[in-house]
Amino acid sequence: MKAHTKETQANLTPRKALEILQEGNLRFIKNLKVQRDLLEQVNDTREGQWPFATILSCIDSRTSSELIFDQGLGDIFSIRIAGNIVNTDILGSMEFACKIAGSKLIVVLGHTKCGAVKGACDHVEMGNLTELLAKLQPSVYQEKETKSDRTSKNKEFVENVAQINVKRNVKNIIERSFILEQMVENGEIGVVGAMYNIETGEVEFYDDVMYIRDTQNPDFTVANLRDLTLA
Ligand SMILES: [Zn+2]
Repeated sequence: MKAHTKETQANLTPRKALEILQEGNLRFIKNLKVQRDLLEQVNDTREGQWPFATILSCIDSRTSSELIFDQGLGDIFSIRIAGNIVNTDILGSMEFACKIAGSKLIVVLGHTKCGAVKGACDHVEMGNLTELLAKLQPSVYQEKETKSDRTSKNKEFVENVAQINVKRNVKNIIERSFILEQMVENGEIGVVGAMYNIETGEVEFYDDVMYIRDTQNPDFTVANLRDLTLA
């Protein structure tokens, strides 16, 4: 498997980029890694990089995007921060990745049993972490299903909050970045949400936050998102 080139990247659509990630994760869970010479890829990418996707995931040591999607050097922009939250610097990184470097798809990838989500559920306060976890609080409050034991001890509550957090951040990206919003509207990029299951190795992409405008989904416009209330 060769590293992406300017041509292979240019020929990809957001939908195809999604399929490449889905196929990579299928290989990962079947333990069928593609043959890839990483040192050769170092050589192939020495003049530049043309990654096809940008993945925002958690710092959790079990959730490396390159590994779980079976990708090599130069394939994806990997943005990692506890709780896979979005802030201005991360939006700036995504704008670079898509507008300047030609990436076709942004994935917000949460994961099960996330320590940051658990911390937010328990309203943990500690040093600079307090400010980071505050960005997860809206998702904790948006979880209305759980009436009792709204703490990290309640596994279902934690996973509900993790899911809401992914969906909120997908929406955040489009609402807070004019550049990315326009690119989605023009069908140049897609933004999708997904959840990685740390027990099975499987990634589930959420159909209800799959913002790709193409022939398969011609009616989608970002204007519709304004009225969306996330479940
Ligand atoms: Zn995490």
